[in-house]
Amino acid sequence: MSHVAPVHVAIVGSGPAGYYAAEALGKALPGRVRIDLVDKLPVPYGLIRTGVAPDHQSIKAVSKRYEAVSLSDGVRFVGNVEVGRDVAVDELTNFYDAVVLATGAPRDRPLGVPGEDLPGVVGSAAFVGWYNGHPEFADLDPPLDAPGAAVIGAGNVALDAARILAKTEAEFAGSDIVGHALDALRTSAVREVTIVGRRGPHQIAMTPKELGELGRLERAAPEVDAADLPDPKADAALEPGLRKSVAHLREFAARLPDGAKLARIRFDFFSRPVRVEGEGRVERLIVERTALDASGEAHGTGEEYAISCGLVVSCIGYRTPPIPGVPYDEARGRFPSEEGRIAPGLYCVGWARRGPSGTIGTNKPDGYLVAERIVADVGGGAGRPGGAGLDALLAERGVEPVSFADWRRIEAAEVSRARAGSPREKFVDVAAMIAARSA
Ligand code: NAP
Repeated sequence: MSHVAPVHVAIVGSGPAGYYAAEALGKALPGRVRIDLVDKLPVPYGLIRTGVAPDHQSIKAVSKRYEAVSLSDGVRFVGNVEVGRDVAVDELTNFYDAVVLATGAPRDRPLGVPGEDLPGVVGSAAFVGWYNGHPEFADLDPPLDAPGAAVIGAGNVALDAARILAKTEAEFAGSDIVGHALDALRTSAVREVTIVGRRGPHQIAMTPKELGELGRLERAAPEVDAADLPDPKADAALEPGLRKSVAHLREFAARLPDGAKLARIRFDFFSRPVRVEGEGRVERLIVERTALDASGEAHGTGEEYAISCGLVVSCIGYRTPPIPGVPYDEARGRFPSEEGRIAPGLYCVGWARRGPSGTIGTNKPDGYLVAERIVADVGGGAGRPGGAGLDALLAERGVEPVSFADWRRIEAAEVSRARAGSPREKFVDVAAMIAARSA
């Protein structure tokens, strides 16, 4: 009987892009591929766990599909191992036939305006990580003691941030928002959230379902200035999704003030941040009125005004952090690649390849594409050690990986300590996660 060497693949990052790549490789090389999903956290699912909003549980349900991948033959989860710290990329490329970087884009793009270092200015990675219990951001403690908050950006992350700031405790029923965030929001003084969009209603990056949600909140009412809306006839030329989003904005603009609403989410279009001011902390965001040129780009008009706020959440996009030994495109904040190929044996996928855009599902074709490339490049296994090589190296270095079975024990512990009506109460620090696997 001829023996075909298995193909060993390390996927770095266990978010959607990593799991779709693993799923695709399993299908492309049935019974012949050994996959290690390596994650720096002891828990899997990346963006699904720590990015997707806690009140969007139906989106989070996709993790069941990823779980099935993890439970399939030849796939391991190797958590609590940071590539670039615990193991170098060139060590991985020696052990495995292919290494796929699926590390996402978990760093905030800087705003680039004076005052952005003042306490109370936070990026969306940090803010979202805080309410979702990412260990790195669990201690953020964003100031919620002033009535005003500004959210910069006109995308879906800005919508998430504004909605979370505006919801009542009852509106978090059924969510898995972490206890520390729920406690802080319960006593929050925020009553006016201003969404700052540097362009206009026709240039938003907000999707209709997510925008429509703002119109059904218990305490907060969305406010759009009708004067910002273009001639309705112009909507016909918009792509259908955007047209629906703009229809929501028109509906918000047409609403009569509702005296029963105790909070507002105000859309401030055609305004761009120019600086943040305050004595030792944020007190106001200074913005400049903009006008669009013929190509739809925003230009400052010189007219400035202040938005009074104690918190600024900047939701203007993300960057992939560099990894020592891997080429990096500094300007774009991601790995440079040719359709996912960075160098022989080294690939990237998802946001680490194409930047932070698209939905969770966009990563599926991405994962399948990189799997195709790997199959075409690698052919058969070259007799490399794969996971056995990594295990030996980690043992030598005293790094204790967390397995998928360990994760399931951590998960069971999170489920069992959930508050009533919530699916789980996440552990928000790595030590607690690791302790829970043997509890
Ligand atoms: P995004 O969709 O790219 O939106 C970023 C926004 O920030 C844009 O409105 C952009 O305006 C604005 N912006 C960029 N630089 C700016 C600056 N210097 N000053 C002021 N505004 C600036 O990014 P995102 O909201 O981070 O979302 C990332 C991806 O995740 C998107 O594909 C999004 O749809 C997806 N997502 C989906 C959901 C969901 O489906 N529920 C939830 C969250 C995120 P310009 O257009 O003028 O550049």
